[in-house]
Amino acid sequence: MELVSAVAEARKHTELARKADKSVGFVPTMGALHEGHLNLIRACKRETWFTTVSLFVNPTQFGPTEDYRSYPSTLEDDLDACSKEKVDLVFAPTAAEMYPDSYGTYVIQERLTERLCGKARPGHFNGVCTVLAKLFNIIRPDIAYFGQKDYQQTVVVRRLVADLNIPVEIRVLPTVREPDGLAISSRNRYLGAPNSQERQAATCLYRALQRAEEMVAQGEMSSAAILHEMTRIISETPRTRLDYAAIVDPDTLEDVEKIRTTAVAALAVHVGPARLIDNTLLNPRPVPAEGPFRKETQPA
Ligand code: AMP
Repeated sequence: MELVSAVAEARKHTELARKADKSVGFVPTMGALHEGHLNLIRACKRETWFTTVSLFVNPTQFGPTEDYRSYPSTLEDDLDACSKEKVDLVFAPTAAEMYPDSYGTYVIQERLTERLCGKARPGHFNGVCTVLAKLFNIIRPDIAYFGQKDYQQTVVVRRLVADLNIPVEIRVLPTVREPDGLAISSRNRYLGAPNSQERQAATCLYRALQRAEEMVAQGEMSSAAILHEMTRIISETPRTRLDYAAIVDPDTLEDVEKIRTTAVAALAVHVGPARLIDNTLLNPRPVPAEGPFRKETQPA
């Protein structure tokens, strides 16, 4: 496994792989690797010939009051994990390498970035788009891997690569969870010990999403009714503060009133010092055919 921190070095290694006719896979991360990341790396290993992982806590996607300075950093463990997974290249640049003093170009995406997390985190997705545009230009991957846990990010990234004609295929893998349903996240460390009040409370996101799935499976189609239940579950959990609960169209992220086709239920909740997000796809029950198409109602 090669470890590089310079853009030119990363480019050299991926170019060599391409020259050897190897497909290049890419898993962008902010480090503090966990099973969610490893699942992406394993998919990348299965589907491409040269697996690149970036470890970079991107300053431009953090707001001024957010946790950029305190974001967990576990470089040694991350390198061990990558080495065990037989990653070919780890790219771990410094902030100065990615954003030198002369830096002046940012990618701004409209509409999708203003919804859901974009409301509470203005500028966040523009930071994500900026760093990904840079990383895609440096690594030039054939396929890049993302997790469904950050659902809005996957929609924003698909828009980014379509709008800027970046020739990369985007793959999205399911959310990896703890046994009690909590979506694994680097920020779960902020919740403290497994038996802490915050860690116990953090399962409320999954419980609310499961309740939403259950209601849809029972035939409920009204987003208002489902959101009422989800909100109730969060508000009854101590040490939590709801940022948003929403049911949205999977492509436009616009609010959906009646769930007639697949929709996404998404949540952001402050639990103690952590802001946690999670989501699930809601698939309505198929509506039986009606009227003249049904045999028994055919005229004699
Ligand atoms: P991060 O390091 O948090 O920026 O995440 C890097 C990538 O890992 C993103 O595509 C995330 O969506 C993905 N990821 C993070 N946590 C999970 C999880 N629990 N399950 C699946 N993917 C995840």
